[in-house]
Amino acid sequence: MKKLKNILLFILLGSTVVSCYTARKSATEGSPKVKNVIFMIGDGMGVAHTYAAMSVSDKPLNIERCEITGLQKTFSANNYITDSGAAGTTLASGKKTNNGAIGVDDQGKKVKTLLEIAEENGLATGLVSTSSVTHATPASFIAHQSSRGSYEDIAKDFLKTDIDVFIGGGSDHFAKRADGLNLLDSLKSKGYEVDTSLDMIMKSIAGKLAGFTAPLQNPYRLKGRGDMLPASTGKAIEILKKNPKGFFLMVEGSQIDWAAHAHAADTTIDETLDFDKAVGVALDFAQQDGHTLVVITADHETGGVTITGGDRNAKTVKLAFSTSGHTAVMVPVYAFGPGSGKFTGIYDNTELFKKILTTYKFSKKTIKAE
Ligand code: MG
Ligand code: ZN
Repeated sequence: MKKLKNILLFILLGSTVVSCYTARKSATEGSPKVKNVIFMIGDGMGVAHTYAAMSVSDKPLNIERCEITGLQKTFSANNYITDSGAAGTTLASGKKTNNGAIGVDDQGKKVKTLLEIAEENGLATGLVSTSSVTHATPASFIAHQSSRGSYEDIAKDFLKTDIDVFIGGGSDHFAKRADGLNLLDSLKSKGYEVDTSLDMIMKSIAGKLAGFTAPLQNPYRLKGRGDMLPASTGKAIEILKKNPKGFFLMVEGSQIDWAAHAHAADTTIDETLDFDKAVGVALDFAQQDGHTLVVITADHETGGVTITGGDRNAKTVKLAFSTSGHTAVMVPVYAFGPGSGKFTGIYDNTELFKKILTTYKFSKKTIKAE
């Protein structure tokens, strides 16, 4: 009788161990395959910028839908305080570089970016920004120049890729150039539809789209940019999702940084809320798609922003700025969808590239080539 009891106990314990093991296995290996990654960068968007936006908003921010959060360290190869060129290059390539560099390492050597690797693997690719597309953050994903100010050379680098859609300002860097070239014509002969207004962009049914919403920089949303960022994010997803292999899209809220440099509290908060609307578009798509990872972060913090007062009922906040430049504080990472668990913890900004790349599960050959 005792022996029988022992056998029963053994079977019971055994089956518990097996079921625990099965549960753990399905949480990792059983999670749906990631086809698409939407990488969203709020330029200069620290914790204070985001919490100020949360505090004045009538409803929770879209960013708050992310269950996974992490923190990343932003220092560059040659400076404790990074600029957007170095930080963008690291987010795009996993390599630290010097301030001012775009898509090259600290020796000036070209580095391969997530956008380029996605392209090599047959995925569709896109860039959306409220700045010119040639500005440091989007440029870091597609161009290779030692200086972020070489806008016309950066524009030329767009032609060396097979990017499917890009939307932002900056048509002058393509059409009004010192070398007299008209790169808008070159884009057209490469099969792009070239649109020069948000209206045209939204009506487009093109498979390859170069969308310009300003000759150089777009205005702040409060000064007339309207829904350009969330609308363009939706349009880019609509084009990219047609590729059955998947896509890589980078979306930047470029002007959170500019407003914080200018110590313009209301604009800093408004640009953060506008970026959050674009986050909502990405998360809605990811939620219904089930194979899309959304990663939201900043390249660095701008303004040394803190919140020195406010009223929860009146939904007001008082911001204080400690610098007109960038700071070295860690910036948050928010992640949503399959593979998002990897983004929890505290890590260097080089890690985001690695985490995104391994989530895609590209062939070993490509990762080796890196
Ligand atoms: Mg930027
Ligand atoms: Zn800045």
